[in-house]
Amino acid sequence: MKTALVTGGTKGIGRAIAESLITAGARVTITARNEDEIEAILRRYATSLIGNILALGGDPPVGIAYDKSRDSFQHAIDLVKFVRRFNESGGHPDRRGFGIGVAGFPEGHPGTPNRLLEMDYFKAKVDAGADYIVTQLFFDNHDFLDFRERCELAGVHIPIIAGIMPITSINGLKRMADLAGGARFPAKLLRTLQRCQNDPDMVMRAGIQHALEQCHDLMANNVAGIHFYTLNQSDATRMIFDTLGNPGR
Ligand SMILES: Cc1cc2nc3c(=O)[nH]c(=O)nc-3n(C[C@H](O)[C@H](O)[C@H](O)COP(=O)(O)OP(=O)(O)OC[C@H]3O[C@@H](n4cnc5c(N)ncnc54)[C@H](O)[C@@H]3O)c2cc1C
Repeated sequence: MKTALVTGGTKGIGRAIAESLITAGARVTITARNEDEIEAILRRYATSLIGNILALGGDPPVGIAYDKSRDSFQHAIDLVKFVRRFNESGGHPDRRGFGIGVAGFPEGHPGTPNRLLEMDYFKAKVDAGADYIVTQLFFDNHDFLDFRERCELAGVHIPIIAGIMPITSINGLKRMADLAGGARFPAKLLRTLQRCQNDPDMVMRAGIQHALEQCHDLMANNVAGIHFYTLNQSDATRMIFDTLGNPGR
């Protein structure tokens, strides 16, 4: 499966997709949206030939008053079911409909501290009709491999795509620590970054090296796929991709 995840508008995407061999995927969040808005988004993505939807809860909007109880859907599972119904009603020009992805959290989601209960919610979301899982970023592969094993034990058998973020700057690291609440930063990585924190080039090289080692190890452990969080710093991902030798080809 070759998939590119896109965010933002659909202008021009349909043609770009039609001319390439890539299956495009889009993120859809339920936060601050009603059912009609979400249906309109799905229709737009369907006519733009987007093949996959990553069905997400979404982070609460920053800086505006927000009442979650007014959203049509309370959890990502409701969106999974909605996309499934959209598919069944023939809403997508491709008879197979959208492929449906869901978010997974190797280190746990901060909203549900009870990890057993969290797995019950997660399994229900997968069983509602997900085709694949994309994980939150992580910096220690043990967390991913343990999550994958816990999924198996819970009866979750769909492909799990690992989330990797190459660190490119100390500021980016701090921003992600905030956005990916709960992500653990291993001492080995922090020590390396601390040593070169006054040299931006060295920080970037150390970040790329760490991500590269993670990717090699994941591939040795038969990972189903890798999703890169580029944060508008795609050069680092490109370098890693080139070094890995593009195994998907
Ligand atoms: C790959 C990836 C990409 C992302 N991209 C974006 C993005 O583009 N924009 C954005 O805003 N955010 C994004 N996020 C962040 C994500 O939307 C948030 O972390 C969100 O809080 C959780 O999303 P979810 O899809 O897991 O939601 P859910 O599955 O709804 O889970 C959210 C919380 O609710 C709990 N829960 C689930 N079901 C129930 C239930 N029945 N009763 C009580 N509690 C329940 C879960 O255990 C969890 O704690 C992304 C995350 C990942 C992993």
